[in-house]
Amino acid sequence: MSLSVKGIARKYGGIVGGFSVVKGIFSGSVTGSVSLRAKLESLARQEFSFFYPSKCTYDDGWAAFEQTWSHIRVRIKLNPDAGISVATMNDLKSKWKNRIENTWNNKWGCGRSDEVTCPFTFEVQWVNSNEHHAVEVKQCGEGEFCRSNERVWDVKDDVSIAHEFGHMLGNRDEYKDDNCPNRTPVNTGTVMDNNSPNIPARLLTRFADNIGSNVVSLT
Ligand SMILES: [Zn+2]
Repeated sequence: MSLSVKGIARKYGGIVGGFSVVKGIFSGSVTGSVSLRAKLESLARQEFSFFYPSKCTYDDGWAAFEQTWSHIRVRIKLNPDAGISVATMNDLKSKWKNRIENTWNNKWGCGRSDEVTCPFTFEVQWVNSNEHHAVEVKQCGEGEFCRSNERVWDVKDDVSIAHEFGHMLGNRDEYKDDNCPNRTPVNTGTVMDNNSPNIPARLLTRFADNIGSNVVSLT
């Protein structure tokens, strides 16, 4: 996890005169050895959740995640339908976590001109409680039409899971859909359009805004 000490310490920026890390940041309660990194992480950690209502027939979304500076962690509880084995679930957890994190991680960073650039990183945590999102895992039958959405994932899915994860972060669909003729932006060629691993900077803007920073290139 990357942290900008200067960025996280911005809240102390208006202080004039002497400043004590022990008194000012640790509230004077330092006994034994302490970790400044752990303290900075706890100072930076925030929970976010919001509903983004439909713009057409089935566009409702629920966003929820934990953000610690440039690191976004999403706690997901998978609820498999009957008949899906533990071994299958373990395989899916590994595959889906890799797919999501490889698609979203290290594409952009956040930073300001006088602060270090930190890459945006995303982490999936599979949990049994205290989840940001609950997902039904289903196994579609042969020839059965079924398509995943934010809340229902099929065992055969792989690349589309990075798209469903995008909804969990608050992003809408961007593919052409006759049921949603006014959708915009549309046909963008991004993960929210055709499941490609293309993550445009604008999909990271809310995370930069959350910490008073900007989306910047990593190269
Ligand atoms: Zn979608």
